[in-house]
Amino acid sequence: MPSATRAFAATGPTTPLGATSVSRRDPLASDVEIEILFCGVCHSDLHQARNEWNNTVYPCVPGHEIVGRVTRTGASVSKFKKGDIAAVGCLVDSCRECPSCREVTEEFVLRIDPKLDPAGAAPLLCAGITTYSPLREWDINKGSRVGVVGLGGLGHMGVKIAHALGAHVTLYTTSANKAEDAKRMGASDVVISKDPAQMARNAGKQDFILNTVSAPHDINAMLGQLRRDGTMCMVGAPDKPHPPVDVFGMIFGRRRMSGSLIGGIKETQEMLDFCAKHNIVSDIEIIPIQKINEAYERMLKSDVKYRFVIDMASLKG
Ligand SMILES: [Zn+2]
Ligand SMILES: [Zn+2]
Repeated sequence: MPSATRAFAATGPTTPLGATSVSRRDPLASDVEIEILFCGVCHSDLHQARNEWNNTVYPCVPGHEIVGRVTRTGASVSKFKKGDIAAVGCLVDSCRECPSCREVTEEFVLRIDPKLDPAGAAPLLCAGITTYSPLREWDINKGSRVGVVGLGGLGHMGVKIAHALGAHVTLYTTSANKAEDAKRMGASDVVISKDPAQMARNAGKQDFILNTVSAPHDINAMLGQLRRDGTMCMVGAPDKPHPPVDVFGMIFGRRRMSGSLIGGIKETQEMLDFCAKHNIVSDIEIIPIQKINEAYERMLKSDVKYRFVIDMASLKG
């Protein structure tokens, strides 16, 4: 029979998130029921809660970086049993019929190595796969030179994963005070992107640039950091359009610009296994769910090192 589950929801674009209750049905044959232990806070949650992409259905319970413990499984589930640690990310179902869906047949619950801290692992489900997927797509490996633009929720995962793939990582940032953290996470160099002399010294050096900055910035200056045939991939979802791109910056040097979203379920599992092998988790600040509205405001000011994660035990309080 359906059970009442506690939740925090937005009821409209201008209302803060508040306590509520949602009804959950019993697990079907292929369902896995989990008790959520930790949930990361992504900028997309805020966009969704405030209907900034004009597609929100209210009440809206945001969250897509979820790690939990299995409490019940449907009759045909064989990959999970009660007590296992499991994770759910940005995808929970799909049409399973279109060409993209037919490329993968995996189910939507993911395995997390119990040796990883479950709170630090939560952001891997969005920030981790969003950075891992393009690094794999462009074959980043030992000896690759990778620039990561921005050291936020996405950027700090990009630095860690690119370093673990064997790349020489350069962080591009506007804040000199992030240099120490970037080096601890695996960056070899830090370039202050608003310093023209430093940018000129590094022009043409990068094989690949992972650009995680969503705020408007000088994309042409970043393109100039690519070598011939280099690619810059945009992963930060902008609130407003970036300044125009100067096509000459791509014509000279045959440089490419691209974008990437998350990744499929198969690749997300591959990323979780890679992170377990290399002991990679997110740098997090744990909050009780009652502080979520405050966390959204701090996230807007980039006042977090480097991802908020909700301790869901606080929902019972
Ligand atoms: Zn996200
Ligand atoms: Zn489909």
